[in-house]
Amino acid sequence: MAKILISDGMANDAILKLKKLQYEVIEKHYTQKELLSGVLNEYDAIIVRSATKLNEKVLSTVESGKGIRFIGRAGVGVDNIDIKEATKKNIVVCNTPQSSTQSVVELTIGHLISSTRHIVTGDRQLRKNIWAKKELRGTELSGKNLGLVGFGRIAQGVSKVASALGMNIHCYDPYLNKNIADQHNCIVHADVDSLFYNCTHISIHCNLNENTYHLVNQERIKMMPVEGHDGSKCGRHIVNCARGGIIDETAACNALSNGELASLGLDVYENEPLSKSRLTGLDTFHGTPHIGASTIEAQDRIGEEMIALLNDFFNEKKPHSILN
Ligand code: NAD
Repeated sequence: MAKILISDGMANDAILKLKKLQYEVIEKHYTQKELLSGVLNEYDAIIVRSATKLNEKVLSTVESGKGIRFIGRAGVGVDNIDIKEATKKNIVVCNTPQSSTQSVVELTIGHLISSTRHIVTGDRQLRKNIWAKKELRGTELSGKNLGLVGFGRIAQGVSKVASALGMNIHCYDPYLNKNIADQHNCIVHADVDSLFYNCTHISIHCNLNENTYHLVNQERIKMMPVEGHDGSKCGRHIVNCARGGIIDETAACNALSNGELASLGLDVYENEPLSKSRLTGLDTFHGTPHIGASTIEAQDRIGEEMIALLNDFFNEKKPHSILN
C-alpha cells in the first residue's frame, strides 16, 4: 500500500483512519537540508501544512518513477509548494479548500473586534494592574466601511458576519464573479486604490503572489480615510489573516508608530515564526501565531478531506481539488 509522509502533523483521527485503510503512514518533519538529500524518493505521497517548503530545489530531487506522486496541502494556501516544478515531475498537488473557511472567518472577526475595542490592550494593562477604563475608548464596527481585498471563500464568510454587525461591505478582486458580489450586497471597486480610499477598515483575503506582495504599503495606508462612513473618528484599521508578505510590515510598523494607522491585527507574517519584530513592541498591534485554521473542527474536516483526496488518487479516481 502507498507510503505517506505526514510532514507537518494532521488530526489524530485522520491518521488512525489512514492506517486502518492500510496506508503506511510516517509522521516525520524533515529539515529543508534533509529534504534536499532525496528523502522524498522513499514515499508515494507527502502531506504538508505551511511549515514544509516544497520549493523547486526540493522537488527537483524527486526521481521519475520512484518518489512522491502526490502532494496534499492540508489547508488552502499553496505558496510553499512550487506547483510548476511538481507538474514537471508529474506530481499531483491538491489542497483542502473548504475545510478551514469558517475558522478563518471567525478569527478575522475576532481581530476586527479586538482592534476597535482594545480587547488585547485592555488585557495587557490589567495584567500590569492598570485600570485603563478612560484611555481605552473604542469605536463601533457598525456603520463603518469594511474593504475586503480578495472576495473568495473566506472574504464572503467575513462579509456575512460583518454585514450582520452593521458594516458596509466593499471589495476588490480582479477575478470577481459579479453575481456573487450582488448576492452579498457588496460594493465592488474596479481597482485596489479605490478600495483603500473608501474604507477605514481593511481585511486581507487574497492569495500571496507577485501581484499581491506588499499590496498594503505606506502609500495605500495613507489613502484610507481616518473618519468613518458614519462620521466618527475611528482611524484606520487593517487585519490580515491571509498570508504574510501581502502587508509591508516595515511600512505598517512606521504607520502604527506615527499614528497614521490606528491598529493592525495579524495572524500571518512576512517571516514565520515571528521573532524579534518591531511589531511586538507596539501597543496598537495585536497578533496571533498563524492559527486561522487551528480549530478542532477545521482540522477534523481537513483530515477527512485529505483522506478522500488520497483514496481517490490511489484508486485512480480524480481528486476534487487538483491544482495542476
Ligand atoms: P479563495 O481562493 O477562495 O479566495 C482568494 C481570492 O483572492 C480569490 O477570489 C482571488 O480571485 C482573489 N485574488 C487573487 N489575486 C488577487 C489580487 N491581486 N487582488 C485581490 N484579490 C485577488 O481563498 P480563501 O479560501 O478565501 O483563502 C483566502 C486567503 O486566506 C488565502 O491567502 C489563504 O492562503 C489564506 N488562509 C489563511 C489561513 C490561516 O491560517 N490564517 C487559513 C486558510 C486560508
